[in-house]
Amino acid sequence: MKMYDAVIVGAGIIGCSIAYFLTEKGFANVLVIDKGGIASDVTGLCPGGVRQQWGTEINCLMSKASTEFFNEINDRLEPEHEIKFRSVGYMNTFHSEEAKAKYAENVALQNSLGIPTKFISPQEAKELIPGINESSFLTAAFCETDGFVDDAYHVTQSFADAAKRKGVEFVNDTVNRIVVENGVVKGVDCEKRGLIGADRVVNAAGLGSKKMAETAGVALPIEFEIRRILYTNRVPKRILEPLLISFEKGFAAKQLTDGTLYLSYLGKDLKPPFNSFDYQVRAAEVGTEIFPPLESLVFHTHVDGRYDSTSDHQAILGDVDGVLGYYQAVGMSGHGFMMSPSIGESLAAMVTGNIPQVDVSSLHFNRFQTNQLVFEPSVV
Ligand SMILES: Cc1cc2nc3c(=O)[nH]c(=O)nc-3n(C[C@H](O)[C@H](O)[C@H](O)COP(=O)(O)OP(=O)(O)OC[C@H]3O[C@@H](n4cnc5c(N)ncnc54)[C@H](O)[C@@H]3O)c2cc1C
Repeated sequence: MKMYDAVIVGAGIIGCSIAYFLTEKGFANVLVIDKGGIASDVTGLCPGGVRQQWGTEINCLMSKASTEFFNEINDRLEPEHEIKFRSVGYMNTFHSEEAKAKYAENVALQNSLGIPTKFISPQEAKELIPGINESSFLTAAFCETDGFVDDAYHVTQSFADAAKRKGVEFVNDTVNRIVVENGVVKGVDCEKRGLIGADRVVNAAGLGSKKMAETAGVALPIEFEIRRILYTNRVPKRILEPLLISFEKGFAAKQLTDGTLYLSYLGKDLKPPFNSFDYQVRAAEVGTEIFPPLESLVFHTHVDGRYDSTSDHQAILGDVDGVLGYYQAVGMSGHGFMMSPSIGESLAAMVTGNIPQVDVSSLHFNRFQTNQLVFEPSVV
């Protein structure tokens, strides 16, 4: 039986980024296994927002390092076609004095870490987004170095291609279980290929990660939450740049490169199921209140995706006590794409026995046992 230095379960953005960074750190005898193929699950529908406006130091640091990578991604990955990271900024609107005052702490944190977020007036916001309803909010926070890459599939494929060029293998198969003997990882058992030997196994299985972890005796505290995205017809003119979000209203919108606008909503007033018609109506109401031009657009497509969320809305990264050779990069909580370069680098460093560029130890699985959760407030 061929032995791999590492097997990665899952070829979403996280698994492929880890594979690429493993090659950067000298590991090439690596196998990536996915039941559906590269970016075949959540990553395939991700609209690719990249923001550094977070409320915890760890997320600011990981997103800043990742944004630096996205800025140089074409040099790093040498993709088949150019990857266009559109550094158009992210604007957050604030609708109450309380939320504004609270977010001032986040802006101070971001600035202290070199993220250039600033508060702007509604009038300044209108200069950036002429269609915005300036009377619907008190102030906005704007970070000009945030942005988006709206072809998450292409980015993922490019990570995979770069890893393949260094010798990493990718196969289509379903992993039934991680094989652990006496607390030591021995490999994985697959539906078609049977047993595959490996000294290290990384669980990057996204929505399948909870089941995968169970097979290694690990109970992951992850819940799955539906997120619906509504898409409009194409609008030739650029009418929504930068990206627009409101944490208070649970609203996010942006204009993709092809002109399509998308809208997503998860207001606190909503009750499950979040894929109902009521949801669609509420999303349109909130959206048009902040950005009235949405009123004249046709939402013709919707896509339901799922977040793999933890209770503090942070990923779970690293090894697991008592299961030698088992690593996890799971629980992305809706921001896995933008964090993927930093998460890939961190996991690859841990797997190869190096020190990660960003200290991600606060996101270790142990935080759930020791009650040291790192609550991230800035989520939509
Ligand atoms: C509506 C929506 C909007 C979003 N917007 C953004 C955004 O703007 N910016 C951002 O950063 N993030 C965003 N996200 C989140 C982001 O898309 C995810 O965090 C990220 O794609 C997760 O990547 P992943 O590799 O962990 O998971 P996935 O892409 O789901 O990959 C996991 C892979 O594991 C495979 N797998 C699972 N089980 C097995 C098994 N047993 N055997 C073999 N293979 C298996 C699956 O086939 C899958 O391909 C959004 C998510 C949604 C739903």
